[in-house]
Amino acid sequence: MNIIKKASEMQKIALKHIKAGDEIGLVPTMGALHEGHISLIDKSGKNDDITIVSIFVNPTQFGPNEDYLKYPRPIEKDLQICKKHHVDYVFLPSVSEMFPDEHKTFVEVKEMQDILCGAFRKGHFRGVATVVAKLFNISCADRAYFGLKDFQQLKIIERMAKDLNFTTKIVPCPIVREKSGLALSSRNSYLNAKQKSDAVLISKTLREAKEDFKTKSLQIVLSAAVKKLSSIPESKIDYAEIVDFDDLSLANSKTKKASFLAAVWVGKTRLIDNIAMSK
Ligand code: AMP
Repeated sequence: MNIIKKASEMQKIALKHIKAGDEIGLVPTMGALHEGHISLIDKSGKNDDITIVSIFVNPTQFGPNEDYLKYPRPIEKDLQICKKHHVDYVFLPSVSEMFPDEHKTFVEVKEMQDILCGAFRKGHFRGVATVVAKLFNISCADRAYFGLKDFQQLKIIERMAKDLNFTTKIVPCPIVREKSGLALSSRNSYLNAKQKSDAVLISKTLREAKEDFKTKSLQIVLSAAVKKLSSIPESKIDYAEIVDFDDLSLANSKTKKASFLAAVWVGKTRLIDNIAMSK
């Protein structure tokens, strides 16, 4: 396994592999790798000749009062995980490598970037879309793997890839959960034991909403869910919404395939989760 820190070197290596006929898979991450990330890495291992994992805590996707500085960075452990899972290259750039002072170009995915998480995290998806566009170009990836855990992010990246004619194919991957139902997240490490067991109610609420969606009106499904989420100790709901599965527009009574998305604070930790639902 090779660790590459320079974008130009990563791109040169990627182009060499393309020339040799290899297909490249990219798994973009912010590190603190867990089984969710590993499922993406293993999928690339199956599909692609070469797997590149990028580890970059991207400052442009954090707001001024967010957890950029305290975000976990267990790099040695991450590298061991990558090695164990047969990653060919870890792309590990510095902030100044990705965003040197002269950097002026940003990618915006209009409307989709401003709703749901985007309404609470201004500029977040602009930062995400920009770094992912750069990573697509640096890695020359045939396929890039994204978790359904970050559903809005996935939909925005799919839109961006279409709009900007990227040749990289976006591969959505299922949410990996703890036995309790809690979706795995690097941010779960901020939770104490009590908060972690309380947070299980988020996924339970989503599962029950999925059941209710089959027979009940949107309003009833939503109000029942909000009531349950509000009962989590120390919780504050940023949003709980049912949206069209394909384009994130608000669901209506005719929507057949939807997604329930929620962002809930438990203490000082912001957790997101979602579930697909159909009539
Ligand atoms: P992050 O390091 O949080 O930026 O996540 C990197 C990638 O891993 C994103 O595509 C996430 O959606 C994905 N991911 C994170 N948690 C999970 C999970 N529990 N299950 C599946 N994919 C995940």
